[in-house]
Amino acid sequence: MDPTPATPGMLDACFLGPYAENDGLLEKLVVEFLRDHVYWRRNFHPEDPPAIPTDAAFDPGYRAFEARMRRELHQLSAALKKSVPFHSPRYIGHMASDLLLPGLAAQILTLPYNPNNVSEDAAPVTVDLEVEVGLQLARMVGYPHDPDRDPCAFGHLTSGGTLANYQALRLALALKAFPIALRAAGVPDLDLPDDDWTAFNLGPSAATALVVRWKDWLAAQPAGAHRAWKAKVEAERIERRGLVDFFAAHPDLRVPWVLAPITAHYSWSKGMKLLGLGRAQLRLMPERDMRLDPAALQETLEACLRLRQPVLAAVGVFGTTEYGTVDPIDALVAARDAWLPRGLGFSVHVDAAWGGYLATLFREPDGSLRPREAVAEGFARFPRPHVHAAVEALAASDSITIDPHKLGYLPYGAGAFLCRDHRAMALLAESADYVFHDHAPRGYRARYRNLGQFIPEGSKPGANVAAVYVTHKVLPLDHVHFGQLPAQTVRAAEAFHAEALAFAARVRDRVRVEVPFPPDSNLVCVAFNPVGNRDIAVANAFARRLHDELRVDPRAPLQDRSFFGSATTLRPQALGEAGMHRILDALGLDPAAEGDAEDHLVILRHTLMNPWLIDRHNGISYIALYFRHLEQRIDALRPA
Ligand SMILES: *Cc1c(COP(=O)(O)O)cnc(C)c1O
Repeated sequence: MDPTPATPGMLDACFLGPYAENDGLLEKLVVEFLRDHVYWRRNFHPEDPPAIPTDAAFDPGYRAFEARMRRELHQLSAALKKSVPFHSPRYIGHMASDLLLPGLAAQILTLPYNPNNVSEDAAPVTVDLEVEVGLQLARMVGYPHDPDRDPCAFGHLTSGGTLANYQALRLALALKAFPIALRAAGVPDLDLPDDDWTAFNLGPSAATALVVRWKDWLAAQPAGAHRAWKAKVEAERIERRGLVDFFAAHPDLRVPWVLAPITAHYSWSKGMKLLGLGRAQLRLMPERDMRLDPAALQETLEACLRLRQPVLAAVGVFGTTEYGTVDPIDALVAARDAWLPRGLGFSVHVDAAWGGYLATLFREPDGSLRPREAVAEGFARFPRPHVHAAVEALAASDSITIDPHKLGYLPYGAGAFLCRDHRAMALLAESADYVFHDHAPRGYRARYRNLGQFIPEGSKPGANVAAVYVTHKVLPLDHVHFGQLPAQTVRAAEAFHAEALAFAARVRDRVRVEVPFPPDSNLVCVAFNPVGNRDIAVANAFARRLHDELRVDPRAPLQDRSFFGSATTLRPQALGEAGMHRILDALGLDPAAEGDAEDHLVILRHTLMNPWLIDRHNGISYIALYFRHLEQRIDALRPA
């Protein structure tokens, strides 16, 4: 069945809603599919008598248990009333909002079946769905997605973006180091590079091609030689030897660096530690105007080549966690391709944990990329040219992280890792037999049914895979369907930006207000300084007090809060010295003196992903209400 084309009414059916307007719909679905599950149990072997006697409920032990369970559930339910009201258009803090009904219903429906996506043995249905989700997301970003033709992308879900980023590091390292293992094992006939440095710098595409050549070569060996060569190569791999032994055996090589922008998420630091590469090998690149500076990247790469310092990957962020800004992915891809012939090979990974689903706005239903002018219809300034160029370049990256549990409006526990060419994944298989053996499962889908071989986790939920899959089927990942949701958030962000400027004009005599940089996507930050103040520390104290009234306070009733926002800081390392001065100047602040504790500026940060920020039916703008609220708070907090 073709999905229904999107109409304005569609949005009204997508979510439970701020007032739980769609309670009847969700309840009907949950009850219907719970009953369905019950019948499934009964119809497995209906001839078996009920194991729990039909009069069990009269037993005192049974009743005592039920009573205890009810009591605890009531207490839990009561305590949860202090939860953060993500569903409300008054919540514009972190990256969370209402949940899409198809996903929520699919997840609840699947939970009692409890599939374990570690392998098909424990999840005959949802493992296939997970492989499909990988292909759906691959199509969204422009990766090749036909499993019958190489190269084809591959993707799987993770617990979140953190683990997806970790998986990207694992894959990049495996690919980089594998040619060294082939050399060390002395494999003939494969056209291996003459020295370790060259072998370590083949770049992801050539390294993947080498994996394929090795597999074919191995398959052609007689059984005894096959086993011996496989063992020999395995023994030389970095994953087997460990970093210490591997680099001791290859003195021409150093532990490679990962280059990421200064605004990169802290999961990159975690990943470097976890993989044993060491946090010191994560090199944070300075930015200009909140985006990775290609000139700084060039300089670093020059230095790396000069010092023979290998680079594992260059990371670009598509939608930064703090500011929603978009790095020049096109420049990263161009740098990768330009440095390869100069002898420095590395992967490009895009951390699109936040921004990934924005790509739906750029995708036609037939899968083609929409021109910028077409995307721009209906927006004030989105997408700025560098954002369109970044989306276009996603297709040329080597791997991507996307979080369905962020802009995919799905429950937590759903991140995704994608790589452009699945053939590299052979290197991550826990048992080489799965992929380098004559009896290895044939065909793309068959191979990945043993998902546990390839992913960082072991047991993992199939229920949230079902949620992601069903959501992508109900709302295909193009601008006509799913794209309606990010379109709404970008419109809200543009409206928020305009309101912020009007607000700044309104309160000019009391507080200077600035939007430090125009939004790339759907996060908007606002900076404050009481008129007459020139001290950053005073301005920061003011912003912190404003934020204190916008944050969750578990000791106070939820209803005491009118709105929820979040706070972040602006640092000269991200804006550039000139950019920082421009903003401080506009706010009437003096630059921090050398050695000042506070060289950064505290600002309010707003995530505009709630679909009801502009209430079409009641003619209410929660954005306008928010700025009225801020105006009152400013007057109350301003130093007399
Ligand atoms: C949220 C986020 C992450 C981490 O994802 P989790 O799902 O929280 O593990 C990584 N990178 C970026 C850019 C993010 O926004």
